[in-house]
Amino acid sequence: MLDFSSDITDIKGVGDKTKKLFGAQDIFNVGALIYNFPRTYRVYPDITDDPVGNVGTKIAVKMPLRGGISVKKAGRTTISLGQGVFNDIFIELIWFNMPYLKSQIKTNTEYVFYGECIRQGKGNYQLRQPLVMTPDKYETLRESYEPVYHLTRGLKNSTVKKSVLTAINEIGALDEFLPEDLINKNNLCGYYDALRLIHFPEKPSDLEYARKRLVYDEFLKFFITIKMEKADTLLSKNGFDFKESLMFCQTINKLPFSLTTGQKDALDEIIESFNGDYVTQRLVQGDVGSGKTILAFLVMLYAVENGYQAAIMAPTEVLARQHENTFKEYVKTFDLPYNVVCVTGSTKASERKKLNEQIKKESGLFIVGTHALVTDKMEYNNLAVVVTDEQHRFGVKQRKKLAEKGNNPHVLVMSATPIPRTLAMILYNDMTVSIIKDVPAKRLPVKNSVIRPNKRKAAWKFIEEQLDEGRQAYIICALVDDSEKSESENVSDYGKMLKEYFKDRYTVGIVHGKMKAKEKDDVMNSFANNEINILVATTVIEVGINVPNASVMLIENADRFGLAQLHQLRGRIGRGEWQSYCMFVDSSKDGKESKRLLILKESTDGFYIAEEDLKLRGPGEFYGVRQSGDMNFRLADIYTDSSIMKIAAHDAEAILSRDGNLESEQYAKLVSHLRNLDEVVYTNL
Ligand code: ADP
Ligand code: MG
Repeated sequence: MLDFSSDITDIKGVGDKTKKLFGAQDIFNVGALIYNFPRTYRVYPDITDDPVGNVGTKIAVKMPLRGGISVKKAGRTTISLGQGVFNDIFIELIWFNMPYLKSQIKTNTEYVFYGECIRQGKGNYQLRQPLVMTPDKYETLRESYEPVYHLTRGLKNSTVKKSVLTAINEIGALDEFLPEDLINKNNLCGYYDALRLIHFPEKPSDLEYARKRLVYDEFLKFFITIKMEKADTLLSKNGFDFKESLMFCQTINKLPFSLTTGQKDALDEIIESFNGDYVTQRLVQGDVGSGKTILAFLVMLYAVENGYQAAIMAPTEVLARQHENTFKEYVKTFDLPYNVVCVTGSTKASERKKLNEQIKKESGLFIVGTHALVTDKMEYNNLAVVVTDEQHRFGVKQRKKLAEKGNNPHVLVMSATPIPRTLAMILYNDMTVSIIKDVPAKRLPVKNSVIRPNKRKAAWKFIEEQLDEGRQAYIICALVDDSEKSESENVSDYGKMLKEYFKDRYTVGIVHGKMKAKEKDDVMNSFANNEINILVATTVIEVGINVPNASVMLIENADRFGLAQLHQLRGRIGRGEWQSYCMFVDSSKDGKESKRLLILKESTDGFYIAEEDLKLRGPGEFYGVRQSGDMNFRLADIYTDSSIMKIAAHDAEAILSRDGNLESEQYAKLVSHLRNLDEVVYTNL
């Protein structure tokens, strides 16, 4: 009998080899596998009677193969070519890297070929990489929705599908954990059925029904957690005493620019709250480029001037190092008598020991780092303020960790994700919100264009002109979902193409998620120091990087992204005194995504963009990109599922008003379910 905590190899048919493949996606147990929901679903069309009339779409043709399959090599690729005949029309079949098909498909036998039909010149048609199956097999498939999962190299969709199916069947009907009145009131699908149907829906309404339940669950869990946390925070007495600081005021006057009204207002609000009765938990929302770093620095300086420690936590090593450098620069320029230390996961053990000692003792210290700052080992000396950069929230767990060590600091969460006000009020119900209303006025707005892939060379030419003027460039190379390559290979290949193009005129650097922190750092630093002219990157670059000399950005496959994310990416340029340019490549078929991308040309206002994006999106369209930070929902989308979100927020409130600590019998199952999810399923988030 399986349960969520059963090892993945307890599933029949999953051995060590598959375990390793699942492990690459952090799936180690049955719970994690079941909560690995399909990315999308494949619906197979009726067998076509008119392939030619359906050029450009995915079709299923029933026809015999004529004359066998020939296999040839083209570089590292093997190409298998065949031909089928339907109503006297020859349709060419082409497969890449599937030489074994030759011995599997029989000549003159009827198969169903499923794939996109392409016109190859006059009267010639081609199916590229079609799936091949017997007519019987196709009939069974046609009646179902086939789940499509996130895959990593070596892991086949059919393997995931089979493993999930076995797991769901073997785990048996799971207990319902929601109280009956909530199920009835909200007309929700039962828990076990929802898990089963989200993977294997039989019809569209199944999918909707199952999804609604699981989205509700996610929101309910989220709201129960934050509302309980809020209750905790409210009870945390403010143990700090802040006095006005002359050096703080002097530093503001020494800045090379004057603060924007938005920055000033936010700063006033924050500092005032530091002397409240309870510690603050505050979200500081400000669009990209609104100047959150200097704000964080000033707030921290205020704490440090008062003899306390202040820490800033960044989501990545690269960002932490950038903040370290910026802070050290500030301390030097403004002549401040304080130290800046930085602790990350890759800090060497000996260095780490030294830093830990310093942090344990030194009062009035700027501490920069990644999540390493909240590990068990860290001991602080009067830590009064924790700022988290580019996160939506400071997790309960992290907060508890600090609190347990006797620190109950004020918490500021800085985020550039534009969330419309009505949603923010629900999502951030537990936090006070400060908004930086404006961005520094002196900057030149970025000029934008949407281009098709055939204009890529022209775009490179344009980039070269910018480089000739001494500027630098970003190229964002996002992976196409069904590509055979991994993201890192994709970036490396693109880097090679550019090196070929720019020869020794300009240097090209690459960064991607698979590189070691140290390597990434080196590349980023070289780019920041203008030793690298062009940086080819995945979206790791998205958050926070500040290289004012970079004035041009080319975003490949922009059509695959949500506009809000593209806006964040674009925020990396237009930070210096030069005119900046952003080019979005629409590689969708027939350029149908260009219209959506043009919104980015219209506006530079993150909130406007997020709302327009929302209007144009169908429900459940994610562009393959998860929402970041701690608001990392598997299924729920804060924009398109906002009505379920409101209901769940309301229900969580009602539950907690009845039973603030969830101690009564009626919530016992709910509590153990939530705990089980945290301890078994979501451990790797
Ligand atoms: P973000 O809000 O996206 O984190 P940053 O803090 O990285 O933005 O700031 C972007 C750039 O704007 C930095 O180079 C910073 O020095 C500059 N900056 C910040 N505040 C101001 C201001 N009030 N006037 C002019 N430039 C500013
Ligand atoms: Mg920032």
